[in-house]
Amino acid sequence: MSMLHRDLGVHRAVKTASGLYVGGGWRDGADRLTVIDPATGAQVGDVVAASAEDARASVAAAHAAFPAWSALPPDERGAPLRRAHALVLERAAELARAMTLEGGKPVDEAEGEVRWGAEFLLWYAEEIRRPWGEILASNGPSQRLYVRRRPRGVVACITPWNFPSSMITRKLAPAVAAGNTVVLKPAEQTPLSAVLLFEIFHEAGFPPGVLNLVCGEPAPIGEVFTEAPEVRQLSFTGSMATGRLLAARCAETGKKASLELGGHAPFIVFADADLELAAQQLTFSKLQNAGQTCIAANRVLVERSVLGALGELLTERVRAARIGDGLEPGVTVGPLIDAAAVAKVGGQVEDALARGARALCGGGPVDGLDRDRFYAPTILADVPLDARIATEETFGPVAPLIGFDSEEEALAIANASEYGLAAYLFTRDLGRAHRVGEALEYGMVAVNDGALGWVQAPFGGVKGSGDAREGGRLGLEDYLDVQYLSVNF
Ligand code: ADP
Repeated sequence: MSMLHRDLGVHRAVKTASGLYVGGGWRDGADRLTVIDPATGAQVGDVVAASAEDARASVAAAHAAFPAWSALPPDERGAPLRRAHALVLERAAELARAMTLEGGKPVDEAEGEVRWGAEFLLWYAEEIRRPWGEILASNGPSQRLYVRRRPRGVVACITPWNFPSSMITRKLAPAVAAGNTVVLKPAEQTPLSAVLLFEIFHEAGFPPGVLNLVCGEPAPIGEVFTEAPEVRQLSFTGSMATGRLLAARCAETGKKASLELGGHAPFIVFADADLELAAQQLTFSKLQNAGQTCIAANRVLVERSVLGALGELLTERVRAARIGDGLEPGVTVGPLIDAAAVAKVGGQVEDALARGARALCGGGPVDGLDRDRFYAPTILADVPLDARIATEETFGPVAPLIGFDSEEEALAIANASEYGLAAYLFTRDLGRAHRVGEALEYGMVAVNDGALGWVQAPFGGVKGSGDAREGGRLGLEDYLDVQYLSVNF
């Protein structure tokens, strides 16, 4: 393992680059953030950690860069985004290996994330060239009513560890394309992906101060971001508890908060569905990043007559997964992020079993692998609705099957959640697809599909999942203020 690690070229990047990129240059600092490989527990790097003072300096740099950056023609703001897109693709393999080392996801999947994340850089470089505005009906011959959009100023972004590269590009690209400047704090578990991206942003030629990186302890940096009067917006992806805390602070200082706070996705399979397709898509949804995604299916609601058949198809597929170190060829499911995550997933499974559920496969550690790092892909049948897994976000490779008898019952169970991010529905009945799809209280609904994160589509939730939209046209509008001009001339 250590041989492999030495070959990765990642150490070079973190030693030379630090974790602190402010005003167009890398800075040194007294504190360091240690990066741990979730598959082995080995230290795979460390980066300079920002102090509160460094965070304030990053806000000042972004504030200073805003007037010139926002005044550039859109196409000139798009130019470094287009260069960054090309550079990310050139260095995709290196970025993917760093991501696997710090986050654990299998390296092919990591490269898929890097390439998908790069798409946001290009898409927003282009989208910013398109018109955004309206001219309204006026009240007299000399009056014109214009509705236009303008950038806000400094945007603070806080990203999670489960998509260490794409959550950064999905926020930064529209924010700076729109004319804002950015300070970013990535998750403390996964700073290497952020450091490598910022090496690329530097090379791509963003003017100093447009993009700033502060890795480090979350709380002191978060306080600076939410208190600094220059910061006009916080864009946050992470847990509900942290998001609500930060949003409350933003409210106190009059900042817009754009939140994406996780989910508890229902995955509804009707008896008329293509069960092979449903099993295939559910396996993808549950095993991608070992189930550690905010849109992972968290409750599998199955019409009772096909419960047994779907359970068998799923078990067959899930048993074929190869679990292990994400750098090993052929591994499809890596470790969970840390021991606490494994304990949480295990606790939910034990709770469901104690309430009468049955494990069709998995249900505990994996033979030959560290029980504090890996959890076996698991399918639970007969899961009662009062089991913790039926309401708590799992963030692990566990699919709990819950039976239903009617469309109304499926909908009632699906909507009984404080979350409202993603939902899935499998049926061959088009009328039902429309009826149920539209009645689901979720920001995103996939019919006969398990994927949702397309670059051109508005990713985001309702209810407790927050209401930010990322991706597509709406993802750009989230970083723009509306201005209405009434002009008499
Ligand atoms: P998770 O449980 O998935 O780690 P968190 O909400 O704790 O979810 O983390 C998401 C992001 O929020 C990470 O970048 C993390 O460092 C950051 N974060 C956590 N607590 C705070 C805080 N008090 N202030 C600012 N950022 C925070």
